[in-house]
Amino acid sequence: MKDKLFGMTLQQLKAVAKQLGLPGFVATQIADWLYKKQITSIEQMSNLSLKARNLLSENYDLGLEAPIKEQVSKDGTKKYLYPAKAGKFIETAFIPDEHRATLCVSSQVGCKMGCLFCMTGKQGFQGHLSIGEILNQLHSLPEREQITNMVYMGMGEPFDNLENVLTSLEILTSSWGYAMSSKRITVSSIGIIPGMKEFLHRSGCHLAISLHTPFDDERKQLMPIQNVYPIKDVLAEIRTYPLEPQRRISFEYIMFKGVNDTPRHVRELIRILAGIECRINLIRFHPIPGTPLEGSDEATILQFNQALNQKGIITTTRASRGLDIYAACGMLS
Ligand code: SF4
Repeated sequence: MKDKLFGMTLQQLKAVAKQLGLPGFVATQIADWLYKKQITSIEQMSNLSLKARNLLSENYDLGLEAPIKEQVSKDGTKKYLYPAKAGKFIETAFIPDEHRATLCVSSQVGCKMGCLFCMTGKQGFQGHLSIGEILNQLHSLPEREQITNMVYMGMGEPFDNLENVLTSLEILTSSWGYAMSSKRITVSSIGIIPGMKEFLHRSGCHLAISLHTPFDDERKQLMPIQNVYPIKDVLAEIRTYPLEPQRRISFEYIMFKGVNDTPRHVRELIRILAGIECRINLIRFHPIPGTPLEGSDEATILQFNQALNQKGIITTTRASRGLDIYAACGMLS
């Protein structure tokens, strides 16, 4: 198996050029072909010498993979199935809206975090995605040119595959890569503190933390990670971090009927989030097989939303997208 060029940083491409005896500027040309253009083979890198293309082809593969299956929701959301290594597969959701189009990417095949409400968690962990496999979900997407925003909210816990996720963000936001604004990318985590610290220091992208309940005992039931990194420690760490202007911290909150949707939860949320400039995204829950949880009703969600807004926390309720094709939040597997 040859190494793959797609997913390499400019620095790694410079090392490739050096190793093959090619001039250093070739690395920038290759990065341009990999991340700014649409090619399907190394031979198409037409401003490289024939010698350079031959050397590259002899030693490397391009490393791009087209999706092998597509499902379209009646609301326009699409779900793509991409091959990953060792015969595994991942799902990616394309969510077009009036003024923007968001791509929800996966960072792992399955997940080891075992959250009670999540279909990916039920699947178990089957491997980390490489940098190329993360970025390929954007690059090989038929609607790539339409994408305005990216969220790392698909399969897997991004900070459990930290280095590959951080390098994929570097390629997305570098001028030699996709040159996307970091303010258009959000990484969502259940709050793995060491990974979150690295992310906050090394990237400028937005952070979303899955909160789901402010109470310790309830969160342990919903999310086993609470036993390792309690949410109060996650919040304490966030408080120490000086946020640059425009960088956003948000909290994801899935609404479970009778579990986390009461006035008591509103009060405790206000208390634990005091002093953090943030917003809350409420998410409707759609029951998945094998969980006792149910989604809160619309009136409760509305009241919860209003109560948080009245207390000064900007809160929105996220529209459910792609429900009929199992592309909604927590349904990818
Ligand atoms: Fe993993 Fe996220 Fe699902 Fe939890 S919610 S099991 S961290 S994919």
